[in-house]
Parts: sequence; structure tokens; C-alpha cells
Amino acid sequence: MPADVPVAARRMAEHLTLIVRAATAGEGGQPWVSALPCRRRPGRRPCPGHFALFRTDDPPSIEWRCTACGDDGVIRGWEESVFDLRRRRPELVSIPSIRMVVPAEVVAILRDLRLVDTAGERLVFRARLADDGDSAVLAAGEDDFEELLGYVAAEANHEKDRRRQKRLDQAFEALKDFVDQP
Ligand SMILES: [Zn+2]
Repeated sequence: MPADVPVAARRMAEHLTLIVRAATAGEGGQPWVSALPCRRRPGRRPCPGHFALFRTDDPPSIEWRCTACGDDGVIRGWEESVFDLRRRRPELVSIPSIRMVVPAEVVAILRDLRLVDTAGERLVFRARLADDGDSAVLAAGEDDFEELLGYVAAEANHEKDRRRQKRLDQAFEALKDFVDQP
């Protein structure tokens, strides 16, 4: 996006692209609640809600609604964009043998990865809201998690910003413990 786009428009675009990525990474045809937090601040406090998503592919449409404040909308015209994470062709998909409940903060760091491939991005964006209403559930095969860990480690190694590097290291540690379990 060009640098001179107003902040509000930039935030709105970012908001919509996050929703499109989550809705296309997760299953279509049925509603589910993603780990994506609402961006609104009613009364200047962050809304505690998350986005419930419902995607149909024919016709292509994404409905979203905040579970707390009720903010909602419908997104169209996202198909075949760079944010459309649906699989383009049938591919071998490993059975999600690992299911981990991680702090929402960890998933926020993972959503911000820059070097990750589409499979990793898909893993992160299909994170569901856990039953506690705050944590996130990540589910994938062991290989997928190991690849994701590789990306997190590589990005932490190259990160010049010490604060972000620390956050990436935290995410790595949080995931590693799960993947290492026998
Ligand atoms: Zn909300």
C-alpha cells in the first residue's frame, strides 16, 4: 500500500485482510470463531470480542461478526487475492495430530511473521478461539509445526529489533514445548 494512505484507511484495509486470511485458512460452509481479536475500542477500552467467521465459496462471500460488540460486515471480491489462503489444488494434508492451546499473544506474534510460507500462514490464521474465550487453539500435523518453528527461529535470528526478537523467541519457546512432547 502507498505510504500516503491515511491511517484510518490503512487500519481498515489491514482489518479486512486479516479477516480474509482467517476465513480462507479455516473451513468454509460453517461458522466458527477465530482467534482474531476485535479491533474496536468502545469507551476507549479494547473490545474483548473475537471474530466469528462464515465463508461460502459459491458465491464467494465472507461474513464476519464480533462476538462481543456485534460489529459485523460482509466481504466480497477477495477470491484469488494474495490474502486468499484456500488451497489452489488438492494437496496432501497431514492429519492434525497436535492440538495446542496457546496464549492469544503467541498467535498475535505468529500472525505477524514475514518470512512464513502459505502452509504456515494457513496454520496460524485458522487458529480458533479456545473455550476459555481468550487463548487460541492451533491444530496441525507435527511436520507442519516443525516447519513453522523453523520460520519463527529464522526470523528471530534475522530480526534487528530487539523487542520483536524477544517476542519471536517467546513464541518459539511456547511452540517448541508442545512439539517436543512424545
Ligand atoms: Zn468487538
